[in-house]
Amino acid sequence: MKKKFSTNIMLFLFISLNFLSIETNSIDNNDFSQTDHISDFTLDFNESNAYNHISTQLEFGFRVPGTSAHNNGAEWIYDQISTITDVAQKHEFSIQKDGQPSYNCQNILGKINPEKEQIVIFGAHWDSRNVAEKDIYNQSQPIPGANDGGSGVGVLLELARVLFSYKNNLSCQIWFLFIDAEDQGYSRGLYGLQDWVYAEGSQVFVEDINEFYNPSKESFECFILLDMVGGTNLEFVKESRTNEDLHNSIFKEGRELGYNQTFSTNPKIMSITDDHLSFNSIGIPVIDLIIDFIAGDWIYHHTHSDDLSHIDSESLRITGRTIESFVKRYYTLGNDTSWKITEESNIFIPYIIFPVLFTTCFVMILRKKREGKKPVLYH
Ligand SMILES: [Zn+2]
Repeated sequence: MKKKFSTNIMLFLFISLNFLSIETNSIDNNDFSQTDHISDFTLDFNESNAYNHISTQLEFGFRVPGTSAHNNGAEWIYDQISTITDVAQKHEFSIQKDGQPSYNCQNILGKINPEKEQIVIFGAHWDSRNVAEKDIYNQSQPIPGANDGGSGVGVLLELARVLFSYKNNLSCQIWFLFIDAEDQGYSRGLYGLQDWVYAEGSQVFVEDINEFYNPSKESFECFILLDMVGGTNLEFVKESRTNEDLHNSIFKEGRELGYNQTFSTNPKIMSITDDHLSFNSIGIPVIDLIIDFIAGDWIYHHTHSDDLSHIDSESLRITGRTIESFVKRYYTLGNDTSWKITEESNIFIPYIIFPVLFTTCFVMILRKKREGKKPVLYH
């Protein structure tokens, strides 16, 4: 019996140490190659479609509230999303600051599987900035917004096409939310629109969110924001309000597909005001897939050079495939895996289980020893 106990302990130790070393190896494996690895799923995301969606948005012109390009851009997104979701809705609102004109704005929402209980929200802002405060010329003129605005919309529209065709296999409801009035706040002495703050559209949406779902029947799983996902040298940061498990799961998904640079094991941590904060404020786990637009490699943020020539289809592919794979892994019918407990957090379990088990076995062995010394009584 004692020998069996000792063998069991050794076995447990062996398994635990192996498990730990496997995890450590996978976490440290950051070779900065961005080659596609074989996926566990058939992935249909097509980066050319996403790229063309960006190109179309730029053809409308500058999508700044109060302009015809803005109106046309909204109609186009609504028309597109209507054909690749079950339900499409407009969320119209206006913004007026003291002494300033009133601007008509709209968020656009497309829903897949609206009858399901759990809701995964994908968001991207679709307005483009009215000023180029980081450029060296024409700072007061609007920017094309190919990456900052256009890229998130392009990827979401392509994801909607892919996931709509997969909808019968999905266990959840998916929202695609195209958010207006994100990018007109103040920076370097200039407002996009006078007295506006960043992320106005998502704040209004969250205030009105009960118009779009039934809290007694439906609940939110997470909010995943895509902002500037199409630039060259794509490397996502970790926004400080990001949900830990959501971050670990999505970044792990990306690395398993071979995108070690984009989804680094050691990303920069930054605090960024963006649309995800509105959803975080009502208790929904969030992630902001965004780059370091201050000191990172993509240097065209809020300049006139945020145009198609600085969009990289490979970055659209990396983002789209990773998200598609994440959804298929965690929200395919019959799959009980949850991103809420990641393997990264599981590696701590042996640290808890092992000492408890070891102490228990030690105490039991001691007791057995003492019992052995007691006289045995027979009837
Ligand atoms: Zn911006």
